[in-house]
Amino acid sequence: MHFDYIIIGSGSGNSFPTPEFDDASIAIIEEAPRFGGTCLNSGCIPTKMYVVAADTAHSAATSERLGIHTTFEGADWPAIVDRVFGHRVDIISRGGEEYRRGDECPNITLFRGHAQFTGPKTLSTTLDGEDVEITGDTIIIAAGSRPFIPPVIAESGVPYLTNEDVMRLPEQPESITILGGGFIAMEFAHVFQSLGTHVRIVNRSPLMRHLDADIHDRFNALVAPRYETHIGRMVSSASHDDNSVTLTLDDGTSLTSSALLVATGRVPNGDRMNLAAAGVDMHDNGRIVVDDYGRTTADGIWALGDVSSPYMLKHVANAELRAVRHNVLQAAGARDASGAPGATSTSDMVPMPHDHVPSAVFTYPQLATVGLTEEQAREAGYDVTTKIQNYGDVAYGWALEDQGSVVKLIADKKTARLLGAHYMGPQASTLIQQMVTVLAFNLDLRDVARRQYWTHPALAEVTENAILGLDLDFPDY
Ligand SMILES: Cc1cc2nc3c(=O)[nH]c(=O)nc-3n(C[C@H](O)[C@H](O)[C@H](O)COP(=O)(O)OP(=O)(O)OC[C@H]3O[C@@H](n4cnc5c(N)ncnc54)[C@H](O)[C@@H]3O)c2cc1C
Repeated sequence: MHFDYIIIGSGSGNSFPTPEFDDASIAIIEEAPRFGGTCLNSGCIPTKMYVVAADTAHSAATSERLGIHTTFEGADWPAIVDRVFGHRVDIISRGGEEYRRGDECPNITLFRGHAQFTGPKTLSTTLDGEDVEITGDTIIIAAGSRPFIPPVIAESGVPYLTNEDVMRLPEQPESITILGGGFIAMEFAHVFQSLGTHVRIVNRSPLMRHLDADIHDRFNALVAPRYETHIGRMVSSASHDDNSVTLTLDDGTSLTSSALLVATGRVPNGDRMNLAAAGVDMHDNGRIVVDDYGRTTADGIWALGDVSSPYMLKHVANAELRAVRHNVLQAAGARDASGAPGATSTSDMVPMPHDHVPSAVFTYPQLATVGLTEEQAREAGYDVTTKIQNYGDVAYGWALEDQGSVVKLIADKKTARLLGAHYMGPQASTLIQQMVTVLAFNLDLRDVARRQYWTHPALAEVTENAILGLDLDFPDY
């Protein structure tokens, strides 16, 4: 079977075919039982739906400071699972697959199985249970990533959960040990602790270590009372019985919980596709090598998203998808003598969009970041000015009775340009957007502070005050 286009992965890859491709034959290959990729089925979307439930439980348990007598009485875990998956995620996933199989996509064939290269532009996979070999003029690899499981856990034989199954547990665990201290670990820690599970965290370094030091120091101090943390520790061994998993740490501590969640990072799926057969190079960690335009080392084979990106984030995968689609269309316009897509000048292409990539962590308190940390800014040689502004010093912070939330801005004194913005506190994932705009459009922070209104008493005033606290030459009006 031959196709004009083959797409591996139904996450971001599923958004590749737009009306421009209606006359082309397209194969989409997906191996997972659920169609639609990580973000939909076990990533961004369901986790945030759990976090909203957790935030509500947490508010009920901590409303005393506002003079409100509420308590958290307990969570109906099966009802939460049903709301997230039964009423939303699984419906969208099934609908997406039916749409691709249906009359509205006559030019698309869906293959449900593992894809693996057997030669240049040639793949083996499965169609209706039969092994098949297919070829394509252009191949888009959007195969994503998977959880990294440390050997000490993988080789021990203990049962463990990852983002792929923890949200579908039939019952809420009484206690859970979370291995890891990054964004996935912190979102699940907040979810489970707020819903009444005892949470133990094991991590070899401080939580959220990659963030600006002022933010991660404060974050670690703020969350310490909520979790049983074992920081600076490694797992020496793991064992289990019918009801629990026990980790023994390198200081001899033994931790027994009803469940173990492994959230120690993710590895790109490039190593599972026999890429060498197609001449596609990858880095040591399984990440596919791509140039600025999304081209792999093999002619006519492109890659995007977690499988090849330095950023494992959905908004980056989406942006890379748009860039690669544009570039593929440019290449398709330039055909060689046989009619196959030919080479095209990179001046017609758009580079992978990797400037000013923001990220948000929907834990408690929320975290959001864009641009450089202070350390990075100083290392890069900027004339740095910084301001840490407490939420508690602005009017909405008073309303929240906030303690501990901050925004830290880092700017270049010479040019009055923003270098980095880091939020920790309520609405961080929304507040960061204004700073993304400032960076994307290279705005002068003096104009940003004074040439627009800041709605009073919205929490955005914390940003206004932070800008005004920078050592910049502001007008006196
Ligand atoms: C718990 C969690 C929370 C997250 N939260 C956020 C968030 O809040 N914000 C954010 O921006 N990002 C978040 N992410 C990251 C985000 O989910 C990913 O960056 C994004 O989904 C990557 O999209 P993708 O298209 O590259 O890969 P995917 O969506 O993973 O799609 C790849 C698909 O390819 C399939 N596949 C792989 N190999 C093969 C093969 N050989 N043959 C056939 N099929 C194959 C896979 O089954 C998968 O369906 C989160 C991730 C996790 C795990």
